[in-house]
Amino acid sequence: MRVIFLGPPGSGKGTQAKRLVEKLGIVQLSTGDLLRAAVQEESALGLEARQYMNAGKLVPDALVVALIVKRLEAPDAARGFILDGFPRTVPQAEALERELAARGGPIDRVVNFRIDPARLTERLVGRRICPRGHGEWHVTFNPPRRPGRCDECGEPLVHREDDHEDKIKVRLEAYRAQTEPLIAFYTQRGTLVDVDAEGDFAAITAAIEAALSDPGARA
Ligand code: AMP
Repeated sequence: MRVIFLGPPGSGKGTQAKRLVEKLGIVQLSTGDLLRAAVQEESALGLEARQYMNAGKLVPDALVVALIVKRLEAPDAARGFILDGFPRTVPQAEALERELAARGGPIDRVVNFRIDPARLTERLVGRRICPRGHGEWHVTFNPPRRPGRCDECGEPLVHREDDHEDKIKVRLEAYRAQTEPLIAFYTQRGTLVDVDAEGDFAAITAAIEAALSDPGARA
């Protein structure tokens, strides 16, 4: 199963993807995570991407496409994947189609996370991340047991550089201008399924699972 999670920053794509990959036995491919790893390693790609990411802007298509194409070649992606945060522009979606055509497996389903835009800023501003990848919390909606510490490993949680209000504004505008057109793109392909991304976490997981297992929604 090859799936794309589409939705604005803060709509819960990453958290739901982490939950579902365990259940479905496929991998989560997050360009945001791959880029943050490149930044941490201070690779040439990371150094170039950092300036865009810290400003809340999209990293240029060529860089992101090269990164994800390389990741798709890894053996663990052959069984299926959830793309989380990619594609984010129409040229990225077109590049993905070309790549998957060469590999003989198109996208099965695009899950479109629908959420009131007014909710996103409060979700992102309060988000805190475990630096060791144990997950994320929210200072108000989902606080860790010990304030500011990961429930799993006790490490101090991180407030992402781009989860501050001025950067969030830029990111949401980038979503509206560059990513939202993908809703029409994938509607045209017949692969898009809307999911209500507000409310109870488990109910959203169930709605996504239902969307993924409904053969009627398949292109
Ligand atoms: P995320 O963790 O998905 O919110 O991504 C964090 C940041 O990484 C974004 O604000 C962009 O700067 C960059 N990024 C992640 N995925 C992409 C993409 N598909 N295209 C361009 N930039 C991306």
